[in-house]
Amino acid sequence: MGEEVISRNFIEQEIDKDLKEGRYNEVVTRFPPEPNGYLHIGHAKSILLNYGLAKEYNGKFNFRFDDTNPTKEKTEFVQSIIDDIKWLGADFGDTVRFASDYFDDMYEAAVKLIKKGKAFVCDLTADEIKEYRGDFKNPGKNSPYRDRSIEENLDLFERMKNGEFPDGSKVLRAKIDMASPNINMRDPVIYRIARMTHHNTGDKWCIYPMYDFAHPIEDAIEGITHSICTLEFEDHRPLYEWVVNELEYPNPPRQIEFAKLYLTNVVTGKRYIKKLVEDGIVDGWDDPRLVSIAALRRRGYTPESIKKFMELSGISKAQSSSDYAMLEYCIREDLKMKADRMMAVLDPIKLVIDNYPEGQIEYFDIDNNQENEAAGTRKVAFSRELYIDREDFMEEPPKKYFRLFPGNEVRLKGAYFVKCVDYKKDETGKVVEIHCTYDPETRSGSGFEGRKVKGTIHWVEASTAVDAEVRLYENIVDEEKGKLNEDGTLNYNPNSLTVLTDCKLEAAFKEAKPGDSFQFLRHGFFCVDTKDTTDDKLVFNRIVSLKSSYKPS
Ligand code: ATP
Ligand code: MG
Repeated sequence: MGEEVISRNFIEQEIDKDLKEGRYNEVVTRFPPEPNGYLHIGHAKSILLNYGLAKEYNGKFNFRFDDTNPTKEKTEFVQSIIDDIKWLGADFGDTVRFASDYFDDMYEAAVKLIKKGKAFVCDLTADEIKEYRGDFKNPGKNSPYRDRSIEENLDLFERMKNGEFPDGSKVLRAKIDMASPNINMRDPVIYRIARMTHHNTGDKWCIYPMYDFAHPIEDAIEGITHSICTLEFEDHRPLYEWVVNELEYPNPPRQIEFAKLYLTNVVTGKRYIKKLVEDGIVDGWDDPRLVSIAALRRRGYTPESIKKFMELSGISKAQSSSDYAMLEYCIREDLKMKADRMMAVLDPIKLVIDNYPEGQIEYFDIDNNQENEAAGTRKVAFSRELYIDREDFMEEPPKKYFRLFPGNEVRLKGAYFVKCVDYKKDETGKVVEIHCTYDPETRSGSGFEGRKVKGTIHWVEASTAVDAEVRLYENIVDEEKGKLNEDGTLNYNPNSLTVLTDCKLEAAFKEAKPGDSFQFLRHGFFCVDTKDTTDDKLVFNRIVSLKSSYKPS
């Protein structure tokens, strides 16, 4: 990569200005997910942005569940969301906050607005409210209930709370401006009646606050300074400001919007993922082909690689898509030095060294990572019978094929030169065994300079080999071919998963634990699957191949 340019993104510039002008003297940010699904890579962007800003300015970072809407919430997601945030390394001081803890404050805030003549109880039906609202071209009309007295509004709102009215029969609305060019300011609904059991407050409430009213209050109560959200809330900002100003919070928070992260060649929509799960195409929301945080973790992505990706993709006000290949680049860069490079044969074929003593085993010291001396070396067994990858042998090689073929000599990585003298096929014509001779003088480390060979291939000693299943992945959708079919269904890549069940790995893999990552020499980076690996079965996910289609600028 070229020289790193340290430029401040537009949010940092705003914060710098706020601190300089004394609007705030600290920075407090938050991440407020709804507990209604798994977190995905887009959320990771928001988490790392908010946490990163708090850290950069020596401020505070709050983690709060936005659980004001009981219909959509499912508490089953609470724990997975907490785990994901911790895994990303965003330290929220172990305090898990819930918006629902502030329901009393929100109720009081609504009463305060009524007392100021800034809110009223409205009896229009939902359809009527919509009709009265007008549209982009036409101003709205005042509700006939808009001029109710403060006393009447206080009385009705309290009775709404006490359960005297049926669901949907009344709402509390902010009294702002039905002619505002911003439709969000046309007397928005701030409380509704809905008899729903809330996971936290049970049946205490039969009225619930609307998001645009609740969110600024949550922020203000927690002393958030910069409430960072995505662009779709830009038009709601005037309402956010109206709420915190009318409620007279000292030093109220301000809202700043940025563009959501979109990624090519992936599926993030819950509707599509649900269908993929139902159709048995993916094995749940943590399938390694998906980009939920749990899926990325299972695939073998590291928090560092995701952070790096967010740095490269930047913070912007303009909507755009980031390239999935850039994410792959980031994990390759991260694992390059960290992961041991070991030998694994994915499609094995037996190689017999005819002139090597039967029953003898010798050991080679092989570097764990040629680029990182600190990674040390390991002992690798070698004997008369090995496995090599099928693609490293050809009966009739094309030009420039430097691997094994009859009569050709190659280097076995870290061991000896071997020359192919014969091969055997089964009835179907499939090559099942290759015979070679080795030259003892070419032993690795002996300083042999007698002759050179053009090809080096990896291998695994047969009697000590560890069996494994290896799963290779391709993008689940191909952006260029179109993510959707004409009928709106997902055009998924039928080759997105290849399962190899007969892989042979060098003996050192016996120590591999779920979640460990390695480079399989010449094949890419692989991670031990945390879900399907058992005591007797090792399963690996290919995180990424070694070849890159992304070039950092
Ligand atoms: P989704 O519908 O994809 O689950 P959401 O916006 O409904 O997304 P929330 O739980 O409401 O999810 O969002 C929590 C926070 O994460 C919000 O501040 C939201 O703006 C942010 N966020 C969600 N998606 C993205 C994204 N793609 N890029 C950046 N931030 C995002
Ligand atoms: Mg949501």
